[in-house]
Parts: sequence; structure tokens; C-alpha cells
Amino acid sequence: MRIDVNPRTDEARLFQISTTAALVQGVLQGALSSSLLLKNGDFGVGTFEDLDGEMVILGGKIYQVLANEAVVRRTDDFLIPFAQVCRLRSSRAVQIELVGSLAGLEEACNKLRTSDNLFYAFRIDARFDTLHARSVRSSPTATSLETAGSNEAKFAWNNTSGSLVGLWSPQFSSSFSVPGYHFHFISDDRRTGGHLLDCSFRMAVAHVQVLTEYEVALPSSGPFLRANLTVDTKAVLEKVE
Ligand SMILES: [Zn+2]
Repeated sequence: MRIDVNPRTDEARLFQISTTAALVQGVLQGALSSSLLLKNGDFGVGTFEDLDGEMVILGGKIYQVLANEAVVRRTDDFLIPFAQVCRLRSSRAVQIELVGSLAGLEEACNKLRTSDNLFYAFRIDARFDTLHARSVRSSPTATSLETAGSNEAKFAWNNTSGSLVGLWSPQFSSSFSVPGYHFHFISDDRRTGGHLLDCSFRMAVAHVQVLTEYEVALPSSGPFLRANLTVDTKAVLEKVE
């Protein structure tokens, strides 16, 4: 039973734990629980404590893509430093054809957005001719996202079927979210995934949903309380997120 969400607006709501400014400033400890996250959505992206891999939330399940390329389905209740979820219920499927790069995918997705000032969720299902992704390695000693993000593993696959779980966030949200597109991949067999770096495909099916409500659950204890969150996140996020 869910009593914390107004059902009329549920599908328009993006919910997130903590902020990207906190990540950039090295607040990498878990803050709020995975059970709270799943109460607020079943589709989204995030990361793990000490940046131990990339998080993909799809179909109400949380997957952890580790830097050794293994994918772990997390069914335990654990603390999360940063994640964003929504409920993608769009029934309108749009076909996207002949995409040769990430820039091409973003161009195709731009045509499905009506504003630069709202959030959007994108689910893209395809058989990818090529797909490049990465995952960050756990770095308990990292003091910022930049030093942690330099410790990553890159993967490349050909002819792999799966889903891109994506969000588009406005530029004005840069202290909270990742401005622009942010896609994480999970294969149909749930054995490979990661933060999308590049891809190409002949045909994909996209589902898009506009998100007009934005709820941020802030950590109420720990280093978040004293971190300097007035930093400009853009340069670091463009490099590592
Ligand atoms: Zn990512």
C-alpha cells in the first residue's frame, strides 16, 4: 500500500535521492534506502555507495552493473547516495530509425520533447549494432566525483539487445540532476549494462513521458549537512556522468 503519493500526479513525478552537487563534492555515502526509492518509482538511474557501479532501475528491479562487467540484481534493502526514479507509463510507442551515434540518438529524442524546461523519461528498446558503456569502480578513498570517475571500466558490444533507461533534465537543474540526456543500459538477458557512452542501431522503439513534478529527498544526516553545494557541477558532470 502506498500512501505517500498523490495518485493523480504520480506519473508526472520525478523522485530522487540527494543531489548531483553532493556527488560532485564527494558525498558518496548511502543516504536513503532502496525500499524508499522503489516506493517512489520503478524506472530510473543512479549510483551506489562509494560509486560502486552503475544503477539501472527497470520494471521495479534494481540492477548493479559492476566495473568487472558483472550485473547483480539487488533485492536487499540498502542505502543509496544518488538515484532518480519515475513511473514510465506512456503507452505510445515511437519508432526511431537509423541512429549511428549517441549524438544521433539525442537528436532523435529531441524531436520527442516539447520543452527544454521540463524533465523527460525515455525508454529505448533496440537491438544495438554497437554499444559502448562504462561502469565506475568502487573507490572508498575518493574525495570527489572527479577522482572517483577517473577510475572506470569501459565495455563494447556488438549485436546486443536491451533497453536504455534515460532521463532528460533541464540545464537549470544542474545542482540537482544531470543536465541533458543521461542513459543507462541493461541487456535483455540482464547480464550486461552500464552508463551509455555511444550506440548505433537500425530500429528502436521509444517510450517517452514528460515529468512536471520534481521531488528531492535530501540526506538528513552525515557529510551532506556540511558539504559545500554551491559548486558549478557542469564541467565535472559532463566528464564523468
Ligand atoms: Zn550514469
